[in-house]
Amino acid sequence: GEGERLQKVLAKAGVASRRAAEELIDEGRVEVDGITVREQGLRIDPETAVVRVDGVRVVVREEQVYLALNKPKGWQSTMSDEMNRPCVGDLVAERVMAGQRLFHVGRLDADTEGLLLLTNDGDLAHRLMHPSYQVSKTYLATVHGEVKRETSKLLHQGVELEDGPAKVDRFQVLEYGEGRSLVKVVLHEGRKHIVRRLLAEVGHPVIALVRTHIGPVALGDQRPGTLRVLGRDEIGKMY
Ligand code: URA
Repeated sequence: GEGERLQKVLAKAGVASRRAAEELIDEGRVEVDGITVREQGLRIDPETAVVRVDGVRVVVREEQVYLALNKPKGWQSTMSDEMNRPCVGDLVAERVMAGQRLFHVGRLDADTEGLLLLTNDGDLAHRLMHPSYQVSKTYLATVHGEVKRETSKLLHQGVELEDGPAKVDRFQVLEYGEGRSLVKVVLHEGRKHIVRRLLAEVGHPVIALVRTHIGPVALGDQRPGTLRVLGRDEIGKMY
């Protein structure tokens, strides 16, 4: 069919998740070209349709932007910081056009370096952050101690943390020696400090942490503080 589904257009504009947009439609709160829409799945031309939610015009013509940032250690993941600490918003300021609203997809600890996705596609941001959307994330961690084979088993089986069990999808010791190890951890959840807490719980506190992959997107050799525009193929694989 022609055009895009109304709930998707609303989600892309950052009004709500796709599900919540469907509810807005059910509740009779969405108007297209002056007419209240109550059926789901209506296709509209986002370039020309005038969409209102609760009478307020929704801007749907914005071009979609998808960026990969290598967040440097010591920077906050947020677009602004109340305490004026260095934050991602400062790093992208020059890349963002007037009126464009970028969301960071999830967070990294200030102390963590690595891949952070930024987009104005509210739909994708909502979906990637939703617990039921099982996007895997890969981390390289330098930890205290020499990691033993049994530890890998334990991490696969699951470890009890204070807010419930957690486990890895994959775990690999890449190097060890002199009282440290370099490990690769793949998991698909996003609880706060999850990698640090998981590794500390099995006796290997983290010294340094870098996120190298989010789903199909790889950090590669992108340097800290730099941005890269994602390719169509990478975006397509996340949808
Ligand atoms: N897990 C952590 O402990 N820290 C991060 O920044 C990301 C995942």
